[in-house]
Amino acid sequence: MKKIIFVISLVVIMASILLYFDGNFYSSFFNYIKCESRKTCLHESAHQYDYQHGIISESNEWKLAVDNYQRHALDGYTDASQVPVETVLLVLFPGIGRERNVSLNPFQSSFWEGGWGGYTEYYASVINYTDGNINKIPENLRRFYDMEEINTTTKGLGY
Ligand SMILES: [Zn+2]
Repeated sequence: MKKIIFVISLVVIMASILLYFDGNFYSSFFNYIKCESRKTCLHESAHQYDYQHGIISESNEWKLAVDNYQRHALDGYTDASQVPVETVLLVLFPGIGRERNVSLNPFQSSFWEGGWGGYTEYYASVINYTDGNINKIPENLRRFYDMEEINTTTKGLGY
């Protein structure tokens, strides 16, 4: 009984923290999204889709596809001004392969960067960088998304 009350209290505390939390986020525990613009709602909807489908962003297939995309995204371009904005954002995306959590060791980059979501943040960022437009998503990454479902979630959030 004590344990149940303890767990219920934890859930209530967490819920009130989440409700008053300022900013945009997705809580997989509460399956709750807080967002304030189309871009942030697309981003958080992608996080929700990711979690609800077995955390696609942590799969080796996803990581390999991202690595391949990063390696070849600029192939064929000779003029930087010809590179689409979303490609620039996805190629220069910081944090790939770095520590997810804040490190206590100042000799590790995540100590200064406050930790990073790496491939998981990349997964959600692809969607807000491309404004949820399947044609703008890099071809080899499209199969990891169901844009109908993600766009429906975003619309349900009012965007
Ligand atoms: Zn995110």
